Amino acid sequence: MAYKKLILKSGRERSLINRHPWVFSGAVKDLPQAENGEIIEVHSNHKELLGYGFFSPNSQITCRVFEFTQEEITIDAAFWIGKLQNAFNLRMRLFNAAETNCYRLLHAEGDFFPGIIIDVYGAVAVVQVLVRGVEQIAEIVYQGLNQLGFSFIYLKTKQNTQLLEQVEQGSRWVGAAHPMPITVLEHGISFQVNVETGQKTGFFIDQRENRKLLAEWSNGKKVLNTFSYSGGFSIYALKAGASLVHSVDSSRDAIALCEANIALESMQDKHQSFTEDCFDFLKRIDDDFYDVVVLDPPAFAKNARSVPNAARGYQNLNALGFRKIKKGGILFTYSCSQHIDKDLFRKVVFSAAAEARRNVRVLKQLSQPEDHPINIFHPEGEYLKGLMLLVD
Ligand code: SAH
Repeated sequence: MAYKKLILKSGRERSLINRHPWVFSGAVKDLPQAENGEIIEVHSNHKELLGYGFFSPNSQITCRVFEFTQEEITIDAAFWIGKLQNAFNLRMRLFNAAETNCYRLLHAEGDFFPGIIIDVYGAVAVVQVLVRGVEQIAEIVYQGLNQLGFSFIYLKTKQNTQLLEQVEQGSRWVGAAHPMPITVLEHGISFQVNVETGQKTGFFIDQRENRKLLAEWSNGKKVLNTFSYSGGFSIYALKAGASLVHSVDSSRDAIALCEANIALESMQDKHQSFTEDCFDFLKRIDDDFYDVVVLDPPAFAKNARSVPNAARGYQNLNALGFRKIKKGGILFTYSCSQHIDKDLFRKVVFSAAAEARRNVRVLKQLSQPEDHPINIFHPEGEYLKGLMLLVD
């Protein structure tokens, strides 16, 4: 089948040859006469075929390339299901279902399938469709998920963020509904997840390995978990023998989930939760109190313009965090803002350490786990950064 062609401006094919999957509007010479969401061919100014992608005429990213090839290819149901199968095969190498049965099955560009993410919670697959192009092939994706053994599919739409893409709004079950909450396993620890009402797809599965690392440093320690959501870090710390864990989140629902999860593991006696703004909490509590502090705020930078403000927010937060740690304690600090890269994050934390007048050493640099693979040609996919710091 022939697809309509997008022609790049002269000299603008370099990033595509380097397999960066986004065609920005400024690089386009001739737009195809195609509808939003159509599959199109991307050609250089010399009319060489570079690849195939989803057309998004209303977005700054005019086309998201899902296949780099100079040959004509057949894009049918088997093509898409093959991409899902490849993604699934990697996860089968990563996880033993008796230990961990919640993971990211498909990580958009990281699995060469832009515009969609799929998170798995036991038998349930939660699908987030981010572009119209994926919406057009959604039925094939659902069929592929059924073939992989996921009998419950929940379509979760993001509110308001993708209006330019005109993706249909309204979350729903595709077929039969699974009762909520679902109890899942992560490294053998049980968590309750509600995919209908929870944040993101229900759980912050991207912090799995960082939670395990926290556990290694928690035995006998006083631990503060800020922005705790459903208590992921808190439970790992308690199970590892922490003497006291404080969980702080401004959302009443998040704290309720956190308490339910802690009850599930019968770990209530050493835990206390606070429904409160984390900045207010950090300001009012004593300095030099905790052995270990976790700072895992939501993305402060939602776009490139908000980076300077976000950087100030991270600096204030980290300076407060440093002050609350005893000499010799550990700070785990994270940013999930895609627009704040590793280097900037480290500079911001450096400024916070100077502001708090503490000696700080980096023990480990942290990132997202293997089920959130980073396409090497698409560094934007490396959204989660963290530092494990020794604070003297
Ligand atoms: N660490 C968590 C995920 C954190 S998500 C985990 O591993 O699961 C960010 C959380 O911060 C959300 O639960 C949100 O309710 C909360 N939050 C956002 N702004 C806040 C603020 N100013 N003070 C306290 N909590 C906040």
